[in-house]
Amino acid sequence: MGIAGIDFVDLQYIDLNGFLRSVTVPYKSYVEKVKGFVGAFDGSSVEGFQPINKSDMFLKADEKTYSVLPWNEKKARVLTEIYDFYGKRYQKDPRYIASLVTNYIKEQGFSPLVGTEIEFFLFSSVSIDIENPIRGLGYSLSSIEQPWDIDTLTLRTKKAYHHAEPNDKLAKTREDIINSFEKMGYGFEASHHEVAVSQNEVSVKAGDPLFVADEVITFKYVARNVAIQNNLIPVFMPKPLFGDNGSGLHFHLSLWDLDMKKNLFLDETSNELSQLARYFIGGILHHGRSLAALVAPTTNSYHRLVPGYEAPVYLVWGHSNRSAAIRIPATAGKKNLTRIEFRSPDPTCNPYLAISATLLAGLDGIKKKIDPGDPYELDVYEMPKEKLKGNIATLPKSLDEALEELESDNEYLQPVFSMELLNSYIEIKRNESDMIRMMPNPYEIYMYLNL
Ligand code: GLU
Ligand code: MG
Ligand code: MG
Repeated sequence: MGIAGIDFVDLQYIDLNGFLRSVTVPYKSYVEKVKGFVGAFDGSSVEGFQPINKSDMFLKADEKTYSVLPWNEKKARVLTEIYDFYGKRYQKDPRYIASLVTNYIKEQGFSPLVGTEIEFFLFSSVSIDIENPIRGLGYSLSSIEQPWDIDTLTLRTKKAYHHAEPNDKLAKTREDIINSFEKMGYGFEASHHEVAVSQNEVSVKAGDPLFVADEVITFKYVARNVAIQNNLIPVFMPKPLFGDNGSGLHFHLSLWDLDMKKNLFLDETSNELSQLARYFIGGILHHGRSLAALVAPTTNSYHRLVPGYEAPVYLVWGHSNRSAAIRIPATAGKKNLTRIEFRSPDPTCNPYLAISATLLAGLDGIKKKIDPGDPYELDVYEMPKEKLKGNIATLPKSLDEALEELESDNEYLQPVFSMELLNSYIEIKRNESDMIRMMPNPYEIYMYLNL
């Protein structure tokens, strides 16, 4: 419940794409109706939700997510649950999917623990010249960090990892974002400059799927509201810069017993990964191609999933191996930290759907006892072509390819995802992919204008 002095409350929900949507109500009506439905909205105006003749929907506040906005003390926000026309919980509400997945996992006797690292860029300006007759030409991103080495005039790519201030010109903005994020009830583990020019990383507190997906959505929301005060624009698209690292949203996953006392991914006798964890890895690798449509869901995602930039290309696992799709991070003997890191996801995913789908793929591996085989400990980017052929699955090369996989491989999702949700999702993403396929892009202009 809010405090006095608040005028407005933003009721927020998330659509299938992972966009945060918001409607403002007076604080007074929020408080009066807090136990019931506080907002009605038009579900036919949200892509993929409802047809026009069944468009009325309702929002109900999830009170534990209520918080005053650190950048506007007269206003609060609360994340909501979506209800349909009949007053039933809406089965396309991404937040609902994330809570259903936890229930489903608990029915199998496990509790999920999820963590994530959010990578993103901070640019001083982003412009797309839509007036230009050749659409796409004129797109520019400028950074407050100098991307050129002044002495040699070479591009300073892949060189900024853990830069300290004053070379790191973004630390202050990251800290402003984190301060607001913490005031809203969330937490961070570590924050640093990432490898690329103007690239950042903030790892957030671990929790259950709903909590962590709320964190990702809230982090992006806070970043956009706070960075702008320092004239910076956060960019979460996975590959804004050619030739430098892109941004991932790695998922750290483990399964525990129902009391959250025992980490079931650790075999205590050998101190190695348990067989349960191996099957879980097997499931994620097995479904890795169809999962891509949910965890790497934009056409831009596939510019990131290329060799040489610490992003995965092949569906293999390894210890400490940042070229593999699944890495087993070193834990320095801290048993509770035993977990797997899935590296395909990027920050344009709908985190509720992506985290849920990844957990369901892992569970399917447990159910079907899919062993992932030996870990690959070498640089996968350098793997000889002969070894690759027919032996090792690669991630899809495009959003289209990923969507085809999701169309044919989705049974493992069905304990939680309805076909209606999946079909709407695929339709939205196909339209997106068609749009980009039909559009000339700036590099084509460079390549072919004079041909
Ligand atoms: N930025 C890399 C990616 O695209 C990951 C770098 C890291 O391991 O933190 O996934
Ligand atoms: Mg990183
Ligand atoms: Mg990582």
